[in-house]
Amino acid sequence: MLKICSLVLLILLSIQTKANQCKSDQVKLQVLGSGGPELDDGRHSSGYLIWYQNKARVLIDAGAGSSVEYGQSGAQFEDLQGILLTHLHVDHSADLPAFIKGSYFTSRSSDLGLYGPAANDLMPSTSDYLQRSMGDKGAFAYLKGYVNKRANADYKVVATDVPLVKGQTSTYTLGNDITAKATFVHHGPVAAVAWRVELAGCSIVFSGDMSNQFNVLSSFASEADILVANNAIPDNASGAALNLHMTPSTIAKIAKQAKVKQLVLSHFMQRTLTIQKETQGIIRQKYRGPIHLAIDGMIVSL
Ligand SMILES: [Zn+2]
Repeated sequence: MLKICSLVLLILLSIQTKANQCKSDQVKLQVLGSGGPELDDGRHSSGYLIWYQNKARVLIDAGAGSSVEYGQSGAQFEDLQGILLTHLHVDHSADLPAFIKGSYFTSRSSDLGLYGPAANDLMPSTSDYLQRSMGDKGAFAYLKGYVNKRANADYKVVATDVPLVKGQTSTYTLGNDITAKATFVHHGPVAAVAWRVELAGCSIVFSGDMSNQFNVLSSFASEADILVANNAIPDNASGAALNLHMTPSTIAKIAKQAKVKQLVLSHFMQRTLTIQKETQGIIRQKYRGPIHLAIDGMIVSL
């Protein structure tokens, strides 16, 4: 009897494990922008797309140029289930009005969730950013229909501000098949969050810009199928840069501790673009999984 019970338990456990397994053939990550804020890096600023069952479902960050790469990706704006912003620096958010204006020429009719950090002393909240850019008194008030639902817009952008509480994870549901989780990260004086997107048993984590002073990413990214880590500074960085970003050694430590299956280095700047091999070497000392160097348009399979 005991044997039969154990067998049933084993079968149930294996079914459960299978259900939790990443359906890797159905999910892909695309890089829309692998650069930072520099003008001469030849790259778009930060942006990523998550494809699920051949539809682009989630946009993560909307830095300058990301909308151009989005256009080239073949993504349909109607398919988008949410926009997640890591923070409101220009290189992560400036194309938001371009996406919303562009959507006028699509057939989108369902409301769209926009998620990003709450305000702090330096930065406005995500909902404020939306209002100040496209609200009634915004610089692009001609798009106010998309923010404050008017007759001239087919859908509304609904903003949610992620609370900035150290160690807390906020969970949001995008449609019925995608979960987005956010946690407060340290990016100098800037309000910033990291994102973890879970779908089809897979998980993709975006560090956003951060130093590791809160030491939250290794547990937040635990067992992720992909960690996209921002490589904005070299190991010998100091001063303000070190207060804003994590070094390659720190990325390596996080990737190892979190046991992420693949690592994508992105958000390159001149100071890291020129030493990518060296950076890979530093990370390889601690992290054994695949390391991808992001370029604009690149698709990463799970
Ligand atoms: Zn940045």
